[in-house]
Amino acid sequence: FNVPTPVNEPILGYAPGSKERELLMAAIADARSKQIEIPMHIAGKEVHTDNKGKVTPPHDHQHILGQFSKGDKSHVSQAIDAALAAKADWENLAWEHRAAIFLKAADLIAGPYRYKLNAATMLGQSKNAYQAEIDSACELIDFLRFNVSYMADIYKQQPPVSPRGSWNRVEQRPLEGFVFALTPFNFTAIAGNLPTSAAMMGNVVVWKPANTQIFAANVLMEIFKEAGLPDGVINLVYVSGPDAGEVIFNHPDFAGIHFTGSTGVFQNIWKTIGNNIHKFKTYPRIVGETGGKDFILVHGSAEAEASSTAIIRGAFEYQGQKCSAASRVYVAKSIWPKVKEFMQRDLATFKMGGTEDFSNFINAVIDENSFDKLAKYIDEAKKDKGVEIIAGGGYNKTKGYFIEPTVLVVDDPKYTTMCEELFGPVLTIYVYDDKDFDKVLNIIDTTSIYALTGAVIAQDRYAIEKATHALRNAAGNFYINDKCTGAVVGQQPFGGARGSGTNDKAGSMINLLRWVSPRAIKETF
Ligand code: GLU
Repeated sequence: FNVPTPVNEPILGYAPGSKERELLMAAIADARSKQIEIPMHIAGKEVHTDNKGKVTPPHDHQHILGQFSKGDKSHVSQAIDAALAAKADWENLAWEHRAAIFLKAADLIAGPYRYKLNAATMLGQSKNAYQAEIDSACELIDFLRFNVSYMADIYKQQPPVSPRGSWNRVEQRPLEGFVFALTPFNFTAIAGNLPTSAAMMGNVVVWKPANTQIFAANVLMEIFKEAGLPDGVINLVYVSGPDAGEVIFNHPDFAGIHFTGSTGVFQNIWKTIGNNIHKFKTYPRIVGETGGKDFILVHGSAEAEASSTAIIRGAFEYQGQKCSAASRVYVAKSIWPKVKEFMQRDLATFKMGGTEDFSNFINAVIDENSFDKLAKYIDEAKKDKGVEIIAGGGYNKTKGYFIEPTVLVVDDPKYTTMCEELFGPVLTIYVYDDKDFDKVLNIIDTTSIYALTGAVIAQDRYAIEKATHALRNAAGNFYINDKCTGAVVGQQPFGGARGSGTNDKAGSMINLLRWVSPRAIKETF
């Protein structure tokens, strides 16, 4: 069978007065006006508990959008049992029938659910309309459609050589057991991708989203069900990390984890899996995308205004809460005054506030923990004589968790905020002497434990060539004359190595191949 050739979903503009803006605003008003009950989903059934958690917009934390049912270890066990009970039918279903479900889900998101899912992402995760559109609409639709095409390519792979008298073939089996999908708050597309990419390859899944993502996860489950996903294939639970870990990483049928989140959590999970390795029937697949300390390097030959735009967009879109966000920037002294002027000019025009007002470029950071951590870094920078704050520096959590886009200029390239992942709208810049370009390449390569994304901005081809080579291990996604965020499915497979993950490239055949366990069969005639 051939599946449709995927093309990237066009981004809607939501211009004032447009039909799409009207529909999105209506979806936002609708979501804001009711307080919904959000159940877990186990074996296709809605599971309610008496233990409730609140869902509130990060930019308006006293407004209740709904309450979700919190589960405990017994719900994790039930979810595993439900997944294992669904396994035989699901893995025996011909792949094109599995494909059809995910293609239909993509169409539902592209069509009737687009506004509801974007509204949920805007309210629950404090994304502006554009950031929601490129995430919960376009990127998720692309993940589903492109993954289905990679899936088809895997099943249609060239068979092995069969010398006369034999027939050799390779069977792509799903993993033996269940897969655990653990998804982060920052992308609804990732929440949709992690469980579905494993499920697509015939696996059954227990899915635990971040608590700050539940509002959108609830809509995703509705979409999967409407697309025809059979009961028990993906089970959605809202439990604490320790409760989930204790049950899942002690279960003999645990066969793999598909993770996006922090480096610390991933390392602990890896250790637990290692300690318990004798308990599992099979070596579990460990696939994870973790932190980043992503860089932009501006060479003296760069164009100043384009550099400023790349820095601002890379650092501050979605409040810098992308694993790919630029958080350390190195600018050549000769061009810095101009870059600084453009940055200050543009940052001064940005409005900050709730996502319901489409003129706000900056919204809130995800929660109080994140707010407090960022405010502390800013306070420390204010006290440090080696740091100059050239933009922002303010914060306020009265109504929502608002942190102004903040730019620190440091005299030490190893200053704390040049090394640690902050995950918010605080950018640190180091200005280097043009003649020290080679030294700066080495500093970039050795300053952080991460290697997710990075960019070089330059007109000089020798500088581009040098940076591309010297930084080949410093980023899994490297950009030349562009910002370091916004990888597009089917165009730039996404992921990094070192402390940033297993580099199994989200939205690629590499990733889907982690969810099958091939069997080679030789038959002799
Ligand atoms: N794929 C996203 C990008 O390129 C980032 C994903 C993430 O933050 O985990 O910006």
